[in-house]
Amino acid sequence: MLSYFEDLPEKEDLLQDSDCCGNGCTNCILDNKPRPSKRVLLAGKRNVILSYTKFRLLRRQTLESGSDGQVLLLHFAHAAEEDGEGAEDTVLDIPPGHHVMMRVGSLLRPYSPYWSDFVAKEFRILVKLQPEGPMSRHLQAVQPNDLLEFRGPIGQYVHEPQPAKCIYIIAQGVAIAPTLPLVRQVLDNEDDMSRLWHLVCARDLQHVYFREEMLEFAQFWNYRSCLYLPHQQCDSPACQEAGHCAQECPQLRSNLRYKETAKVSRLDASELGNHLNPAIPGQRVLIVAGDSRFQKIMAQFAMQSLDVDPANIYML
Ligand SMILES: Cc1cc2nc3c(=O)[nH]c(=O)nc-3n(C[C@H](O)[C@H](O)[C@H](O)COP(=O)(O)OP(=O)(O)OC[C@H]3O[C@@H](n4cnc5c(N)ncnc54)[C@H](O)[C@@H]3O)c2cc1C
Repeated sequence: MLSYFEDLPEKEDLLQDSDCCGNGCTNCILDNKPRPSKRVLLAGKRNVILSYTKFRLLRRQTLESGSDGQVLLLHFAHAAEEDGEGAEDTVLDIPPGHHVMMRVGSLLRPYSPYWSDFVAKEFRILVKLQPEGPMSRHLQAVQPNDLLEFRGPIGQYVHEPQPAKCIYIIAQGVAIAPTLPLVRQVLDNEDDMSRLWHLVCARDLQHVYFREEMLEFAQFWNYRSCLYLPHQQCDSPACQEAGHCAQECPQLRSNLRYKETAKVSRLDASELGNHLNPAIPGQRVLIVAGDSRFQKIMAQFAMQSLDVDPANIYML
C-alpha cells in the first residue's frame, strides 16, 4: 500500500500563488491543498486528479438556453491514453462538498462535480455560462471528445455519521449540483441517523435542477426539502397582475409533484426558523452552496434562526 507521502508528489506540496483562480473562493486551493483521502489510501491507488490531468468530454447537454444564459451538463472521463503508463493504478476521488479546478491555458476556474465514479474515473458538472465570462466563452465551444485539464479535490467538508446530526443544506440555482453528493452520502448509509433539510432557492420552478433526484431522496424518512421560488409566475390574470403566483396558485400546485413543497417567497431568517424543529436532537450543521453574497446572508440567517454554531457552518 502507498504511504501518504509516497502518494503525494513533491511538486504538489509546492503550491504557488498562481495556482489560485483569484475568484475569492471560500475554500481556496492555497489553504486546501489537494490531498489523498483515506479512501484512496485504503484502495492502495493514486488519485488521478491530484495534479492537472486530462479528461475527455464524453457528453454535453444543454439543459436551458434562455435570456439569463445557458446551463450545460458536462460529463468527463479520465483520458487514460494521455497519461502514459500506470493509469490502471489510479482512481478518481472527489469527496462530497469538494470542487475541482479547471485549467485552460492560464485561465483557472473552480467547478463542483455533482456525480463522480471512483473506479471508472468519470465525473459530471453543471455549468451556468456567464455572459462575457472568459471560461464560459471557452465552454460554450467545447464538444464531445475535447480534452480539458482538471485538478483537485479542493475543500474541507467532512461528514461524520456518528453522532447523528441535523444538517441544513441551502442551495442557490445551479449550486444545487454539489449538494447532491452530500445528501446521498447520508441517505446511502443505513447507519447514519442524521436528518437533512434541503432548502433550494431558484427564480422559479423552471430553474430548479435535479427535481427527479430530490423526489428520490424524498422517499427517505430523514430527508425533507422545500423550494423557494420568489419569481414563480403563471399566465393566470391574477398572478400576472401581482407579478408572481399566489402561494395557493392552482397552476403552481398542479406543477408540483408528490411530496414537493414550494413557497413563492425568498428564504429569509424567519422562514429558516420554521425548519428549526427544536424537539429533534443533534448538533445543527449548515452547508451553503451559492455565490459568496448568498453564502454570507444564509450563514447570518442560520446563526439567528437555527442557533448554528459558526464552527459548524460550511460554505462550498
Ligand atoms: C468553489 C466554487 C465552485 C464553483 N462551481 C461551479 C459549478 O459547479 N458550476 C458553475 O457553473 N459555476 C461554478 N462556479 C463558478 C465558476 O467557477 C465560474 O466563475 C463561472 O463558470 C464563470 O466563469 P467565467 O470565466 O466564464 O466568468 P467569470 O469571469 O468568473 O465571471 C463573469 C461574471 O459573472 C459573475 N458570476 C460568476 N459566477 C457567478 C454565479 N455563480 N452567479 C452569479 N454571477 C456569477 C462574476 O461575478 C462576473 O461578473 C464555482 C465557483 C466557486 C468559487
